[in-house]
Amino acid sequence: MKLPRWNLAILVQLWTGHAQLNKHLHHIKHVQTNICPACRREPETVHHYLFRCKAYVKLRRQIY
Ligand SMILES: [Zn+2]
Repeated sequence: MKLPRWNLAILVQLWTGHAQLNKHLHHIKHVQTNICPACRREPETVHHYLFRCKAYVKLRRQIY
C-alpha cells in the first residue's frame, strides 16, 4: 500500500511518539500542559488519542 507523503509523515510521528500531540509538545516546551484538549481527562499520548479519548469515540467507530 502506497501512502501519500504527508500521511506517511504522520504515521512515522505516531510510531515514534513525536506526533503533534500535547504529550510531545509539552515535553519540548511548546505547550503548558500535556492534557488532552478534547476531553481534558488524561495526557494526550498517542495511545490516548488513538484508543482511549472519549471525545473521538464516534469518529473511531466510523473508522474501525
Ligand atoms: Zn482525550
